[in-house]
Amino acid sequence: EQLREERMAYLAGEKRIKAVTVCFTDLEGRLHMLDYDKKFLLSSYDNLTFDGSSIRGFSAQAESDLRLSIDWPAFYWLPADVFGPGKVLVFAEVRQRDGSPYPGDMRSKLKLFLDELYEKEGLTVNLANEIEGFIFLGRNAEQRYRETGEFTMVSTSGYYHSLPGDPLRTFIDMAAEAQRAMGFSNEKDHPEVAPSQFEMNYSYTEALIASDQILLYKLICRQVASRLDMTASFLPKPVTGVNGSGMHTNISISGSDGVNLFHDANGEEGLSDYAWKFVDGVLYHAKDLCLLLNASVNAYRRLDPHYEAPNQIKASGIDRGSMVRIPIGNARTARVEVRSIAPDAHPHMAIYAILRAGLSNAETDPSIRKGEETLPDNIYDAITDFRASAMIAEVLGEEVQAKYADLKEAVADRCPRKLGTLIKRAEVQFH
Ligand code: GLU
Ligand code: MG
Ligand code: MG
Repeated sequence: EQLREERMAYLAGEKRIKAVTVCFTDLEGRLHMLDYDKKFLLSSYDNLTFDGSSIRGFSAQAESDLRLSIDWPAFYWLPADVFGPGKVLVFAEVRQRDGSPYPGDMRSKLKLFLDELYEKEGLTVNLANEIEGFIFLGRNAEQRYRETGEFTMVSTSGYYHSLPGDPLRTFIDMAAEAQRAMGFSNEKDHPEVAPSQFEMNYSYTEALIASDQILLYKLICRQVASRLDMTASFLPKPVTGVNGSGMHTNISISGSDGVNLFHDANGEEGLSDYAWKFVDGVLYHAKDLCLLLNASVNAYRRLDPHYEAPNQIKASGIDRGSMVRIPIGNARTARVEVRSIAPDAHPHMAIYAILRAGLSNAETDPSIRKGEETLPDNIYDAITDFRASAMIAEVLGEEVQAKYADLKEAVADRCPRKLGTLIKRAEVQFH
Protein backbone atom coordinates (compact mmCIF):
# COMPACT_ATOMS: atom_id res chain seq x y z
CA GLU A 1 0.00 0.00 0.00
CA GLN A 2 2.79 2.36 0.96
CA LEU A 3 4.73 1.26 -2.10
CA ARG A 4 1.70 1.97 -4.27
CA GLU A 5 1.46 5.49 -2.91
CA GLU A 6 5.18 6.03 -3.44
CA ARG A 7 5.10 4.77 -6.99
CA MET A 8 2.00 6.79 -7.82
CA ALA A 9 3.53 9.96 -6.41
CA TYR A 10 6.64 9.23 -8.44
CA LEU A 11 4.61 8.76 -11.62
CA ALA A 12 2.63 11.92 -10.98
CA GLY A 13 5.81 13.94 -10.49
CA GLU A 14 7.83 12.45 -13.35
CA LYS A 15 7.18 14.73 -16.32
CA ARG A 16 8.88 12.47 -18.86
CA ILE A 17 6.25 9.76 -18.37
CA LYS A 18 3.06 10.22 -20.40
CA ALA A 19 1.74 6.67 -20.36
CA VAL A 20 2.26 3.48 -18.39
CA THR A 21 2.46 0.06 -20.01
CA VAL A 22 0.48 -2.44 -17.96
CA CYS A 23 1.16 -6.06 -18.88
CA PHE A 24 0.03 -9.60 -18.21
CA THR A 25 0.28 -12.96 -19.98
CA ASP A 26 -2.26 -15.15 -21.73
CA LEU A 27 -2.57 -18.88 -21.05
CA GLU A 28 0.33 -19.61 -23.40
CA GLY A 29 2.66 -17.10 -21.79
CA ARG A 30 2.55 -14.41 -24.44
CA LEU A 31 3.04 -10.95 -23.02
CA HIS A 32 0.11 -8.58 -23.55
CA MET A 33 0.51 -4.88 -23.04
CA LEU A 34 -1.91 -2.02 -22.58
CA ASP A 35 -0.72 1.55 -22.56
CA TYR A 36 -2.70 3.56 -20.06
CA ASP A 37 -2.50 7.31 -20.17
CA LYS A 38 -0.78 8.35 -16.96
CA LYS A 39 -3.50 10.70 -15.71
CA PHE A 40 -6.17 8.12 -16.39
CA LEU A 41 -4.15 5.41 -14.63
CA LEU A 42 -3.54 7.53 -11.57
CA SER A 43 -7.23 8.27 -11.16
CA SER A 44 -8.54 4.82 -12.12
CA TYR A 45 -5.83 2.38 -11.00
CA ASP A 46 -8.36 0.42 -8.94
CA ASN A 47 -10.82 0.07 -11.78
CA LEU A 48 -8.87 -1.07 -14.84
CA THR A 49 -10.83 -3.41 -17.08
CA PHE A 50 -10.20 -5.15 -20.38
CA ASP A 51 -11.92 -7.52 -22.78
CA GLY A 52 -10.72 -11.04 -21.94
CA SER A 53 -12.49 -12.70 -24.85
CA SER A 54 -9.79 -11.67 -27.31
CA ILE A 55 -6.97 -13.18 -25.25
CA ARG A 56 -5.99 -16.74 -26.19
CA GLY A 57 -7.09 -19.26 -23.59
CA PHE A 58 -8.98 -16.67 -21.60
CA SER A 59 -12.66 -16.26 -21.03
CA ALA A 60 -15.54 -16.99 -23.36
CA GLN A 61 -17.57 -14.03 -24.50
CA ALA A 62 -20.15 -14.38 -21.76
CA GLU A 63 -17.58 -13.56 -19.09
CA SER A 64 -15.43 -11.27 -21.15
CA ASP A 65 -14.90 -8.32 -18.81
CA LEU A 66 -11.85 -8.87 -16.67
CA ARG A 67 -9.99 -6.58 -14.32
CA LEU A 68 -6.33 -5.73 -13.96
CA SER A 69 -4.85 -5.18 -10.54
CA ILE A 70 -1.45 -3.54 -10.68
CA ASP A 71 1.40 -5.28 -8.88
CA TRP A 72 3.28 -2.14 -7.84
CA PRO A 73 6.54 -3.81 -6.80
CA ALA A 74 6.91 -5.18 -10.36
CA PHE A 75 7.61 -1.76 -11.84
CA TYR A 76 10.36 -1.13 -14.42
CA TRP A 77 11.81 1.74 -16.39
CA LEU A 78 12.41 0.70 -20.00
CA PRO A 79 15.80 1.97 -21.25
CA ALA A 80 15.27 4.98 -23.50
CA ASP A 81 17.91 4.13 -26.11
CA VAL A 82 16.09 0.90 -26.87
CA PHE A 83 12.41 1.62 -26.16
CA GLY A 84 12.20 5.38 -26.65
CA PRO A 85 11.94 8.06 -23.96
CA GLY A 86 9.64 8.08 -20.94
CA LYS A 87 8.56 4.44 -20.97
CA VAL A 88 7.70 2.47 -17.85
CA LEU A 89 6.17 -0.95 -17.47
CA VAL A 90 4.33 -2.61 -14.62
CA PHE A 91 2.95 -6.15 -14.26
CA ALA A 92 -0.65 -6.69 -13.31
CA GLU A 93 -2.74 -9.54 -11.98
CA VAL A 94 -5.85 -10.57 -13.83
CA ARG A 95 -8.99 -10.62 -11.70
CA GLN A 96 -12.57 -11.61 -12.32
CA ARG A 97 -15.49 -9.19 -12.09
CA ASP A 98 -15.84 -9.82 -8.36
CA GLY A 99 -12.14 -9.18 -7.77
CA SER A 100 -11.08 -12.80 -7.21
CA PRO A 101 -7.98 -14.08 -9.08
CA TYR A 102 -8.71 -15.22 -12.64
CA PRO A 103 -7.91 -18.97 -12.84
CA GLY A 104 -6.09 -18.58 -16.17
CA ASP A 105 -3.67 -16.02 -14.75
CA MET A 106 -0.58 -18.04 -13.97
CA ARG A 107 1.35 -15.16 -12.52
CA SER A 108 -1.25 -14.77 -9.75
CA LYS A 109 -1.12 -18.52 -9.11
CA LEU A 110 2.64 -18.53 -8.79
CA LYS A 111 2.62 -15.45 -6.61
CA LEU A 112 0.00 -16.82 -4.21
CA PHE A 113 1.91 -20.08 -3.92
CA LEU A 114 5.22 -18.35 -3.19
CA ASP A 115 3.61 -16.02 -0.65
CA GLU A 116 2.09 -18.99 1.15
CA LEU A 117 5.35 -20.89 1.13
CA TYR A 118 7.01 -17.93 2.78
CA GLU A 119 4.26 -17.22 5.31
CA LYS A 120 3.66 -20.81 6.40
CA GLU A 121 7.14 -22.30 6.15
CA GLY A 122 9.50 -19.36 5.91
CA LEU A 123 10.79 -20.61 2.54
CA THR A 124 12.08 -18.51 -0.33
CA VAL A 125 12.52 -19.99 -3.80
CA ASN A 126 15.45 -18.66 -5.80
CA LEU A 127 15.79 -19.06 -9.55
CA ALA A 128 18.41 -18.32 -12.15
CA ASN A 129 17.25 -18.83 -15.71
CA GLU A 130 19.50 -19.40 -18.69
CA ILE A 131 17.63 -18.44 -21.82
CA GLU A 132 19.03 -19.23 -25.24
CA GLY A 133 17.88 -17.70 -28.49
CA PHE A 134 18.86 -17.08 -32.10
CA ILE A 135 19.49 -13.89 -34.01
CA PHE A 136 18.34 -13.77 -37.61
CA LEU A 137 18.73 -11.17 -40.29
CA GLY A 138 15.86 -8.74 -40.87
CA ARG A 139 13.34 -7.44 -38.39
CA ASN A 140 10.60 -9.47 -40.04
CA ALA A 141 12.55 -12.75 -40.18
CA GLU A 142 9.79 -14.69 -38.42
CA GLN A 143 7.07 -13.58 -40.82
CA ARG A 144 9.38 -14.36 -43.72
CA TYR A 145 10.07 -17.79 -42.28
CA ARG A 146 6.36 -18.57 -42.53
CA GLU A 147 6.51 -17.81 -46.26
CA THR A 148 9.89 -19.24 -47.24
CA GLY A 149 10.76 -21.73 -44.48
CA GLU A 150 14.16 -20.12 -44.07
CA PHE A 151 16.05 -17.98 -41.65
CA THR A 152 19.27 -16.12 -42.41
CA MET A 153 21.92 -16.32 -39.69
CA VAL A 154 23.77 -13.12 -38.85
CA SER A 155 26.91 -14.77 -37.55
CA THR A 156 28.91 -17.95 -37.94
CA SER A 157 30.57 -17.80 -34.56
CA GLY A 158 30.27 -20.72 -32.16
CA TYR A 159 30.63 -21.15 -28.41
CA TYR A 160 32.11 -18.06 -26.75
CA HIS A 161 33.60 -17.02 -30.05
CA SER A 162 33.04 -13.78 -31.82
CA LEU A 163 34.84 -11.61 -34.29
CA PRO A 164 35.19 -7.83 -34.09
CA GLY A 165 32.14 -6.19 -35.60
CA ASP A 166 30.20 -9.44 -35.48
CA PRO A 167 26.50 -8.49 -35.54
CA LEU A 168 25.77 -11.13 -32.89
CA ARG A 169 28.30 -9.46 -30.59
CA THR A 170 26.74 -6.05 -31.24
CA PHE A 171 23.37 -7.48 -30.31
CA ILE A 172 24.67 -9.16 -27.15
CA ASP A 173 26.38 -5.97 -25.95
CA MET A 174 23.29 -3.83 -26.47
CA ALA A 175 20.92 -6.34 -24.92
CA ALA A 176 23.15 -6.86 -21.87
CA GLU A 177 23.34 -3.09 -21.37
CA ALA A 178 19.54 -2.85 -21.53
CA GLN A 179 19.23 -5.70 -19.02
CA ARG A 180 21.54 -3.94 -16.56
CA ALA A 181 19.48 -0.79 -16.96
CA MET A 182 16.41 -2.80 -15.94
CA GLY A 183 17.98 -4.24 -12.81
CA PHE A 184 19.28 -7.58 -14.05
CA SER A 185 22.64 -8.56 -12.49
CA ASN A 186 24.40 -9.89 -15.56
CA GLU A 187 27.15 -12.39 -15.02
CA LYS A 188 28.17 -13.80 -18.38
CA ASP A 189 26.87 -13.01 -21.87
CA HIS A 190 28.07 -15.07 -24.78
CA PRO A 191 27.54 -16.59 -28.22
CA GLU A 192 26.20 -20.14 -27.74
CA VAL A 193 27.15 -23.37 -29.48
CA ALA A 194 25.08 -22.97 -32.66
CA PRO A 195 25.96 -20.24 -35.14
CA SER A 196 24.00 -17.02 -34.53
CA GLN A 197 22.88 -18.29 -31.12
CA PHE A 198 23.23 -16.35 -27.88
CA GLU A 199 22.76 -16.72 -24.13
CA MET A 200 22.90 -14.09 -21.43
CA ASN A 201 23.27 -15.22 -17.83
CA TYR A 202 22.30 -13.09 -14.88
CA SER A 203 22.21 -13.66 -11.17
CA TYR A 204 19.52 -15.63 -9.34
CA THR A 205 16.67 -13.87 -7.64
CA GLU A 206 13.35 -14.59 -5.95
CA ALA A 207 11.13 -16.80 -8.13
CA LEU A 208 8.38 -14.32 -9.05
CA ILE A 209 10.87 -11.65 -10.08
CA ALA A 210 12.90 -14.26 -11.95
CA SER A 211 9.79 -15.37 -13.85
CA ASP A 212 8.93 -11.79 -14.75
CA GLN A 213 12.52 -11.36 -15.89
CA ILE A 214 12.08 -14.16 -18.41
CA LEU A 215 9.37 -12.12 -20.12
CA LEU A 216 11.48 -8.97 -19.85
CA TYR A 217 14.55 -10.77 -21.23
CA LYS A 218 12.65 -11.83 -24.32
CA LEU A 219 11.08 -8.40 -24.69
CA ILE A 220 14.48 -6.69 -24.47
CA CYS A 221 16.07 -9.12 -26.93
CA ARG A 222 13.28 -8.69 -29.44
CA GLN A 223 13.33 -4.92 -29.17
CA VAL A 224 17.12 -4.61 -29.38
CA ALA A 225 17.27 -6.96 -32.35
CA SER A 226 14.54 -5.03 -34.12
CA ARG A 227 16.54 -1.81 -33.65
CA LEU A 228 19.43 -3.53 -35.42
CA ASP A 229 17.17 -4.82 -38.21
CA MET A 230 17.47 -8.34 -36.87
CA THR A 231 15.06 -10.74 -35.16
CA ALA A 232 15.60 -12.44 -31.81
CA SER A 233 13.79 -15.77 -31.98
CA PHE A 234 12.97 -18.06 -29.07
CA LEU A 235 11.74 -20.87 -31.24
CA PRO A 236 13.16 -24.03 -29.60
CA LYS A 237 14.52 -25.58 -32.80
CA PRO A 238 14.60 -23.02 -35.61
CA VAL A 239 17.37 -24.69 -37.59
CA THR A 240 17.81 -28.44 -38.02
CA GLY A 241 21.27 -29.95 -37.68
CA VAL A 242 22.51 -27.55 -35.01
CA ASN A 243 21.68 -27.03 -31.32
CA GLY A 244 18.28 -25.67 -30.47
CA SER A 245 17.47 -23.18 -27.73
CA GLY A 246 16.72 -24.19 -24.17
CA MET A 247 15.57 -22.38 -21.09
CA HIS A 248 17.29 -23.99 -18.15
CA THR A 249 16.03 -23.05 -14.75
CA ASN A 250 18.36 -23.30 -11.74
CA ILE A 251 16.42 -23.75 -8.52
CA SER A 252 17.29 -23.51 -4.84
CA ILE A 253 15.25 -22.93 -1.72
CA SER A 254 16.37 -21.04 1.34
CA GLY A 255 15.00 -20.99 4.88
CA SER A 256 14.00 -17.93 6.88
CA ASP A 257 17.61 -17.48 8.05
CA GLY A 258 18.69 -17.23 4.40
CA VAL A 259 20.55 -20.55 4.49
CA ASN A 260 20.43 -22.55 1.25
CA LEU A 261 18.51 -25.72 2.14
CA PHE A 262 19.67 -27.45 -1.03
CA HIS A 263 23.29 -27.56 0.13
CA ASP A 264 24.98 -30.37 2.04
CA ALA A 265 28.74 -30.69 1.66
CA ASN A 266 28.49 -34.40 2.51
CA GLY A 267 25.46 -35.15 0.38
CA GLU A 268 25.50 -36.81 -3.03
CA GLU A 269 26.71 -34.18 -5.56
CA GLY A 270 26.83 -31.68 -2.65
CA LEU A 271 23.06 -31.64 -2.35
CA SER A 272 20.95 -32.15 0.78
CA ASP A 273 18.28 -34.86 1.14
CA TYR A 274 15.74 -32.05 0.90
CA ALA A 275 17.10 -31.09 -2.53
CA TRP A 276 17.13 -34.71 -3.71
CA LYS A 277 13.53 -35.09 -2.60
CA PHE A 278 12.74 -32.08 -4.78
CA VAL A 279 14.60 -33.61 -7.75
CA ASP A 280 12.79 -36.94 -7.29
CA GLY A 281 9.44 -35.12 -7.22
CA VAL A 282 10.21 -33.39 -10.52
CA LEU A 283 11.37 -36.63 -12.17
CA TYR A 284 8.38 -38.53 -10.80
CA HIS A 285 6.04 -36.00 -12.40
CA ALA A 286 8.14 -35.48 -15.54
CA LYS A 287 5.48 -36.71 -17.95
CA ASP A 288 2.71 -34.77 -16.23
CA LEU A 289 4.81 -31.62 -16.58
CA CYS A 290 6.18 -32.17 -20.06
CA LEU A 291 3.53 -30.26 -22.01
CA LEU A 292 3.92 -27.20 -19.81
CA LEU A 293 7.68 -27.19 -20.23
CA ASN A 294 7.62 -28.04 -23.93
CA ALA A 295 4.51 -26.31 -25.07
CA SER A 296 4.93 -26.17 -28.85
CA VAL A 297 5.14 -28.70 -31.65
CA ASN A 298 8.59 -27.36 -32.43
CA ALA A 299 9.85 -27.89 -28.85
CA TYR A 300 9.87 -31.66 -29.37
CA ARG A 301 12.33 -31.31 -32.22
CA ARG A 302 14.75 -29.75 -29.75
CA LEU A 303 14.65 -32.58 -27.19
CA ASP A 304 17.55 -34.56 -28.63
CA PRO A 305 20.57 -35.40 -26.45
CA HIS A 306 22.87 -35.22 -29.49
CA TYR A 307 22.29 -31.49 -29.31
CA GLU A 308 22.70 -31.16 -25.52
CA ALA A 309 18.93 -31.03 -25.16
CA PRO A 310 17.62 -33.48 -22.60
CA ASN A 311 14.90 -36.03 -23.17
CA GLN A 312 15.98 -38.45 -20.44
CA ILE A 313 14.03 -38.46 -17.21
CA LYS A 314 17.02 -38.62 -14.92
CA ALA A 315 19.38 -36.57 -12.79
CA SER A 316 23.10 -36.30 -13.34
CA GLY A 317 26.06 -34.15 -12.41
CA ILE A 318 27.54 -34.17 -15.85
CA ASP A 319 25.18 -35.51 -18.49
CA ARG A 320 23.53 -32.68 -20.40
CA GLY A 321 21.07 -35.14 -21.87
CA SER A 322 19.36 -35.49 -18.50
CA MET A 323 16.28 -33.56 -17.49
CA VAL A 324 17.87 -32.48 -14.23
CA ARG A 325 21.52 -31.63 -13.91
CA ILE A 326 23.39 -30.83 -10.69
CA PRO A 327 25.92 -28.06 -11.41
CA ILE A 328 28.99 -27.67 -9.23
CA GLY A 329 27.94 -25.54 -6.28
CA ASN A 330 28.93 -24.33 -2.83
CA ALA A 331 26.92 -23.39 0.27
CA ARG A 332 25.50 -20.37 -1.51
CA THR A 333 25.14 -21.67 -5.07
CA ALA A 334 24.10 -25.34 -4.58
CA ARG A 335 21.13 -25.81 -6.89
CA VAL A 336 19.40 -28.11 -9.33
CA GLU A 337 19.13 -27.27 -13.01
CA VAL A 338 15.98 -28.33 -14.86
CA ARG A 339 17.01 -28.47 -18.53
CA SER A 340 13.99 -29.83 -20.38
CA ILE A 341 12.27 -26.47 -20.76
CA ALA A 342 11.94 -24.61 -24.04
CA PRO A 343 12.15 -20.82 -24.16
CA ASP A 344 8.64 -20.51 -25.62
CA ALA A 345 7.03 -22.09 -22.53
CA HIS A 346 4.84 -19.96 -20.27
CA PRO A 347 7.42 -19.02 -17.64
CA HIS A 348 5.12 -18.57 -14.65
CA MET A 349 3.12 -21.67 -15.47
CA ALA A 350 6.18 -23.85 -16.04
CA ILE A 351 7.89 -22.69 -12.88
CA TYR A 352 4.76 -22.97 -10.76
CA ALA A 353 4.21 -26.54 -11.94
CA ILE A 354 7.86 -27.54 -11.39
CA LEU A 355 7.77 -26.17 -7.85
CA ARG A 356 4.53 -27.96 -7.07
CA ALA A 357 6.00 -31.21 -8.42
CA GLY A 358 9.27 -30.79 -6.52
CA LEU A 359 7.51 -29.98 -3.27
CA SER A 360 4.73 -32.54 -3.72
CA ASN A 361 6.03 -35.07 -1.17
CA ALA A 362 5.33 -37.80 -3.70
CA GLU A 363 6.35 -41.31 -2.66
CA THR A 364 9.44 -41.61 -4.82
CA ASP A 365 12.17 -44.14 -5.26
CA PRO A 366 15.70 -42.70 -5.69
CA SER A 367 16.33 -45.20 -8.49
CA ILE A 368 14.27 -42.80 -10.64
CA ARG A 369 17.42 -40.65 -10.84
CA LYS A 370 19.14 -43.25 -13.00
CA GLY A 371 16.62 -42.69 -15.72
CA GLU A 372 15.11 -45.64 -17.52
CA GLU A 373 12.51 -43.48 -19.22
CA THR A 374 12.37 -40.63 -21.69
CA LEU A 375 10.03 -37.70 -22.17
CA PRO A 376 7.37 -37.85 -24.90
CA ASP A 377 8.92 -37.20 -28.31
CA ASN A 378 5.89 -35.40 -29.75
CA ILE A 379 3.26 -33.00 -28.50
CA TYR A 380 0.34 -35.40 -28.91
CA ASP A 381 1.78 -37.86 -26.39
CA ALA A 382 2.56 -34.98 -24.05
CA ILE A 383 -1.04 -33.76 -24.33
CA THR A 384 -2.32 -37.26 -23.50
CA ASP A 385 -0.12 -37.46 -20.38
CA PHE A 386 -1.15 -33.96 -19.38
CA ARG A 387 -4.87 -34.64 -19.72
CA ALA A 388 -4.57 -37.82 -17.68
CA SER A 389 -2.58 -36.24 -14.87
CA ALA A 390 -4.19 -36.02 -11.43
CA MET A 391 -1.28 -33.88 -10.30
CA ILE A 392 -1.99 -31.30 -13.03
CA ALA A 393 -5.70 -31.30 -12.16
CA GLU A 394 -4.80 -30.51 -8.59
CA VAL A 395 -2.22 -27.89 -9.44
CA LEU A 396 -4.01 -25.98 -12.23
CA GLY A 397 -7.62 -26.95 -11.62
CA GLU A 398 -9.57 -29.15 -14.01
CA GLU A 399 -10.93 -26.27 -16.02
CA VAL A 400 -7.53 -24.79 -16.85
CA GLN A 401 -6.14 -28.27 -17.47
CA ALA A 402 -8.81 -28.94 -20.10
CA LYS A 403 -8.62 -25.47 -21.64
CA TYR A 404 -4.86 -25.65 -21.99
CA ALA A 405 -4.89 -29.14 -23.48
CA ASP A 406 -7.62 -28.10 -25.97
CA LEU A 407 -5.62 -25.05 -26.96
CA LYS A 408 -2.46 -27.08 -27.57
CA GLU A 409 -4.34 -29.74 -29.47
CA ALA A 410 -5.96 -27.18 -31.74
CA VAL A 411 -2.55 -25.74 -32.62
CA ALA A 412 -1.00 -29.18 -33.12
CA ASP A 413 -3.86 -30.23 -35.39
CA ARG A 414 -3.06 -27.36 -37.69
CA CYS A 415 0.39 -28.92 -38.20
CA PRO A 416 0.27 -32.31 -39.90
CA ARG A 417 2.58 -34.74 -38.15
CA LYS A 418 5.05 -35.39 -40.94
CA LEU A 419 8.12 -33.28 -41.53
CA GLY A 420 8.56 -31.09 -44.56
CA THR A 421 9.08 -27.46 -45.33
CA LEU A 422 5.46 -26.49 -45.71
CA ILE A 423 4.53 -28.26 -42.52
CA LYS A 424 7.45 -26.81 -40.66
CA ARG A 425 6.22 -23.34 -41.50
CA ALA A 426 2.64 -24.02 -40.51
CA GLU A 427 3.58 -25.29 -37.08
CA VAL A 428 5.37 -22.18 -36.01
CA GLN A 429 4.04 -19.93 -33.30
CA PHE A 430 6.35 -17.27 -32.01
CA HIS A 431 6.58 -16.25 -28.37
N1 GLU B 1 21.23 -25.58 -26.39
C1 GLU B 1 21.09 -26.66 -25.45
C2 GLU B 1 19.61 -26.88 -25.16
O1 GLU B 1 18.84 -26.93 -26.06
C3 GLU B 1 21.83 -26.43 -24.15
C4 GLU B 1 23.29 -26.11 -24.23
C5 GLU B 1 23.84 -25.79 -22.84
O2 GLU B 1 23.96 -26.70 -22.03
O3 GLU B 1 24.03 -24.61 -22.57
O4 GLU B 1 19.17 -27.03 -24.05
MG1 MG C 1 23.54 -22.67 -22.83
MG1 MG D 1 22.53 -24.54 -18.41
